[in-house]
Amino acid sequence: MIYLIPTPIGNLEDITLRALRILKEVDLILVEDTRVSIKLLKHYDITTPYESFHMHNEHQKVSKIIKQIKVGLTVALISDAGTPGISDPGFLLVRTALEAKLEVQCLPGPTALIPGLVQSGIPTDRFVFEGFLPPKKGRKSRLESMALETKTLVFYESPHKLIKLLDEMIPIFGGDRNIAIAREISKLYESTYRGSLKAAKFYFQENSPKGEFVIVVEGLKK
Ligand code: SAM
Repeated sequence: MIYLIPTPIGNLEDITLRALRILKEVDLILVEDTRVSIKLLKHYDITTPYESFHMHNEHQKVSKIIKQIKVGLTVALISDAGTPGISDPGFLLVRTALEAKLEVQCLPGPTALIPGLVQSGIPTDRFVFEGFLPPKKGRKSRLESMALETKTLVFYESPHKLIKLLDEMIPIFGGDRNIAIAREISKLYESTYRGSLKAAKFYFQENSPKGEFVIVVEGLKK
């Protein structure tokens, strides 16, 4: 059995009782960055053995892990924050495990996109999660492919690229499009900026972006 276990995106209280129990019960925890996860594991007195599993070693490690699970090992995967597989390692392990006819369960729990979307004030009934745009090439064409999208769009972006992203969006979505930018969800400096795209760009030019951000853009009005 493989469990995908969501972990807090800021506030350490945001972890379920079931997540803690499973992390204590499994034989092995796969962690994205040992330095990050050790803090969580220590905080909750979890002494289960762990090893690293991240984008640079997952291809190399996945078949050995699947073999171990086939002979009875129970494994949980956690990422640095939030739900594994959401802009984090997880997909390769799930796909390989399913191909090997193993059971996979993802626990419900923290992820940044859902609170960012729900508190945005922008329609939540239909949305597209776009995650991060490609880091360099292909950003413009990716955004252009969404120009006529009527569903709400949800993005992740790092603080040093936030203004660049807003700048890239304005000619494609129009400066008057509604946007909400949730910063540091569940952390000390949590806040949400709500306004038009062009006002958001002005605001963040005046108030340098710091922390982590979820960007929610209203879809094209029919
Ligand atoms: N697996 C995570 C999840 O389920 O949301 C996402 C991991 S991804 C590597 C990190 C990005 O998620 C950040 O750059 C930011 O866009 C978003 N994020 C994570 N934590 C956040 C927080 N506390 N507040 C706002 N955005 C956050």
